[in-house]
Amino acid sequence: MDFRLSEEQEALRESVRDFAREVVAPAIAEHYEKHTFPYEIVRQMGKMGLFGLPFPEEHGGMGGDYFALCLALEELARVDSSVAITLEAAVSLGAMPIYRFGTDEQQARWLPKLLSGEALAGFGLTEPGTGSDAGGTQTRAVLDGDEWVINGSKAFITNSGTDITALVTVTAVTGTRPDGSKELSTIIVPSGTPGFTVAPAYSKVGWNASDTHELIFDDCRVPAANLLGERGRGFAQFLRILDEGRIAIAALAVGLAQGCVDESIKYAKERQAFGQPIGNYQAIQFKIADMEMKAHTARLAYYDAAARMLAGEPFKRQAAIAKLYASTIAVDNAREATQIHGGYGFMNEYPVARFWRDSKILEIGEGTSEVQRMIIARDLGM
Ligand SMILES: Cc1cc2nc3c(=O)[nH]c(=O)nc-3n(C[C@H](O)[C@H](O)[C@H](O)COP(=O)(O)OP(=O)(O)OC[C@H]3O[C@@H](n4cnc5c(N)ncnc54)[C@H](O)[C@@H]3O)c2cc1C
Repeated sequence: MDFRLSEEQEALRESVRDFAREVVAPAIAEHYEKHTFPYEIVRQMGKMGLFGLPFPEEHGGMGGDYFALCLALEELARVDSSVAITLEAAVSLGAMPIYRFGTDEQQARWLPKLLSGEALAGFGLTEPGTGSDAGGTQTRAVLDGDEWVINGSKAFITNSGTDITALVTVTAVTGTRPDGSKELSTIIVPSGTPGFTVAPAYSKVGWNASDTHELIFDDCRVPAANLLGERGRGFAQFLRILDEGRIAIAALAVGLAQGCVDESIKYAKERQAFGQPIGNYQAIQFKIADMEMKAHTARLAYYDAAARMLAGEPFKRQAAIAKLYASTIAVDNAREATQIHGGYGFMNEYPVARFWRDSKILEIGEGTSEVQRMIIARDLGM
């Protein structure tokens, strides 16, 4: 068992770390404050190949794996979570369903631009009336000749309304199974399709430089060929996508937790109180030691889940543990980092204020902490 990174992985980590420090850090606070999407940063991430990291070269990808994506997410989130979630959602929720379940035609049409970062895709599962209970989906799609007619709405969909959003994949009820349960399928809806409206951006607590919208479908017609994978496989598809996505969110949470350590050490060495740097006080040192312990153990949890996934072994429980633990400690670390910064921690000009605002959603998105506990308990046979 060896958790050390290979030379190639270390080089990727270094290059993303440099990019985050040199390109993201100086520009992101203004985007965050003005709630603007960082197109130029996204364009440069595309040029670096980050959107193609876990995909084979034949589709325009970088030929890496899901762990490489996680390493990149961790380093981005160490500096900023809006940029990290934009990449996470674009790859694991946007492009991945098309790569995993799409036809040759769908892959040829969409993957090259999604993997180069030239275009983004969203994944619409959550609805205004149902999130954790995805079986409660109300959006319906009815086959009319050679077209699907979609009616309903989706809530909180990341990357769904940028100028470069090319499509969203949406889950919809397409029928009833013999046992009376809903038949769920996934359908690709290109941006600009008549009957598909993107509502104005939400006003959010955090992730303010990322793009999130409610989507409305009103007799929205798309070709029958836009069905993603097999009809009726929608439930299985999103379970697979969310299992993987939890490892990516865990990596993002570890990045935020580590960023809190970075900023706290820097500040504790500079800030003077009672005649010396506050970092000289054991109370502050212990806080930072605990923060580092949590970031380190959460990192091991996501490394383990990713290793199992890449080995083709069951990883559902480990992914849920990694996501649950990493998001919990990200919130802990953000709270402690703010505390170490005193009043300045409450000022938006300090990165820890952003970390604090960005941490809470990690316990909610891609399955709440309660849902992770349900998954773990179920996997333990309860
Ligand atoms: C900024 C942002 C971006 C997002 N991006 C996307 C996206 O790109 N695509 C997408 O599809 N969704 C997205 N989401 C939605 C997100 O995944 C959901 O908000 C999340 O899954 C929770 O669903 P909900 O909000 O409906 O909460 P609910 O499911 O209504 O849950 C409310 C509370 O009840 C608890 N609860 C529910 N059921 C149980 C139970 N059985 N036992 C115990 N407790 C329970 C929950 O844990 C939670 O605490 C995003 C959300 C946000 C805020």
